[in-house]
Amino acid sequence: MRIILMGPPGAGKGTQADLLVHELGIPHISTGDMFRKALKEGTPLGLEAKRYMDSGGLVPDDVTIGIVKERLDMADAANGFLLDGFPRTVPQADALAQTLQELGVALDVVLDVVVDRDALLARLTGRRVCRACGATYHLVFNPSLQGDKCQSCGGELYQRDDDTAATAENRLDVYNKQTAPLVDYYKKKGLLLEVDGGKPVDEVTRDILKALGREKR
Ligand SMILES: [Zn+2]
Repeated sequence: MRIILMGPPGAGKGTQADLLVHELGIPHISTGDMFRKALKEGTPLGLEAKRYMDSGGLVPDDVTIGIVKERLDMADAANGFLLDGFPRTVPQADALAQTLQELGVALDVVLDVVVDRDALLARLTGRRVCRACGATYHLVFNPSLQGDKCQSCGGELYQRDDDTAATAENRLDVYNKQTAPLVDYYKKKGLLLEVDGGKPVDEVTRDILKALGREKR
């Protein structure tokens, strides 16, 4: 199975990725992991990417695509993979299509985990952190038993700047602007499969596996 997993921040993509690679026995290839691996192995492209990252800049597309290509060419990806965080743009998707063609393989499906905006905002803004011990909670998914105090140390819980509504709105806008064309791109190729990510985690996994024709182990 060769899968691309897409979904906005807060859609639970990371959790689904972990569950799916376990169920399907394929490697989870995320952009972050790819860069780390390329760096660790000291490949020329890894070192080039490091130069951009060290100077605080964005890694250019040709470097990123080169790293994706190196990664997809590794033995563990020969029988499938779940790509997460790449491609993000149509030019990257074109480059990926070309890479896969060169490798003589094809994508099976592009999963788009869809969650409505209000639910995403609730998820993205619900995190609370203890000022004293750093424990993290979530108003919806993992509330402190002590209300607005930390349940392990009694410390004050606060919302980090990264988790405010304004930041969350901005992240969603950036994602939508960047990714909407990609959704159309894969829809036209007949590869897009929308998944209702508003359901509980287990049900989302089950729906995906069912749609892929695989039953949960
Ligand atoms: Zn605490």
